[in-house]
Amino acid sequence: MEKRIYNFAAGPAILPEPVLLEAQKDLFALPGVGMSILEISHRSKVYDAIHQEAKAGIKKLLDIPDNYSILFLQGGASLQFSMVPLNLMPPKNKADYTSTGSWSKKAIKEAKRVGTVNVAATTEEGEGDAKYFKRIPKQEELKLDPDAAYVHFTSNNTIFGTQWKMEPEVGNIPLVCDASSDILHKKIDVKKYALIYAGAQKNIGPSGVTLVIIRNDLLERCSDSLHTMLNYKTHVDNDSLYNTPNTFGIYIIKLVTKWLESLGGLDKMYETNKRKAGYIYQVIDESNGFYKGHSAVEDRSLMNVTFNLETPELEKKLIDEATKAGFNGLKGHRSVGGLRASIYNAFPEKGCADLAEFMKDFQKKN
Ligand SMILES: *Cc1c(COP(=O)(O)O)cnc(C)c1O
Repeated sequence: MEKRIYNFAAGPAILPEPVLLEAQKDLFALPGVGMSILEISHRSKVYDAIHQEAKAGIKKLLDIPDNYSILFLQGGASLQFSMVPLNLMPPKNKADYTSTGSWSKKAIKEAKRVGTVNVAATTEEGEGDAKYFKRIPKQEELKLDPDAAYVHFTSNNTIFGTQWKMEPEVGNIPLVCDASSDILHKKIDVKKYALIYAGAQKNIGPSGVTLVIIRNDLLERCSDSLHTMLNYKTHVDNDSLYNTPNTFGIYIIKLVTKWLESLGGLDKMYETNKRKAGYIYQVIDESNGFYKGHSAVEDRSLMNVTFNLETPELEKKLIDEATKAGFNGLKGHRSVGGLRASIYNAFPEKGCADLAEFMKDFQKKN
């Protein structure tokens, strides 16, 4: 079998090795079925069991109350940028958004096509093409409209490497979250949320499936005049089977939830994630400015560690040498430059410790 390398890619991203091995083993024919997951009908009993287990896995890990529906949709988190306002903004046609990174801005852009967006807080800095975000707004900075249809926030800013440590306090206004890059990295109190969405390809499975968790009372807002496929009610009424879902993606999600459960659930995962990020942030902090963390210290992401070096040349040298040593995907997003180590749930703890050692060694030599 091919040897695997350390994959720090931001998304699609690393999947747990036991999941890949189980999928590989069963890919030719599911046990007792004689066909693979890629070939069976989405209306078959066999598939239905997989679909229900994937949902049950998510529900158990996040302790999702019964008055929420769990959906597996398509179109990525990007389609949710449109579906959220189309379904939830009327009749008030105004909503609050916090602007904390590139994905927040994209969500705001689509919401503006539906109604009025109040940017409740932005942490954008810089001018022109050199704009960036390096922190999360403080609760006191939020200028919330008590009459907003909902408040939207992006829990982890994948590109800039910042993360909300706590949900914003929004009183009785429904809270909507793009959790694409940190869902399942720790336990959250789902009751605080009206809707959570996440593209699967960072922390739950492969690309091509989007998890949506929606509180059922919000379905009253979904107008019958919406296009069928854009209406959350369609997908709730049909258990995400109105059209052909990403059956393979949902099967992988089932395996990922089982893997998380076998490790001891999300509290255990969270402890591991803090240790993992800690190895790398510690090297940054003890480097006397050789490594410069991008995020404000208190807002650092546990999922995407972003940092720069003194010059782009030195950054390139580190990336080249790291790649040769088997650390792949460390180049930062073009809007931040530098390096980004994406260390989602499936990324092994040893890989973080090994990268930290590599960085210390690189500093000594340079
Ligand atoms: C990757 C990402 C997206 C985009 O996801 P797609 O599934 O490609 O549409 C949106 N939001 C966040 C926070 C992301 O990290």
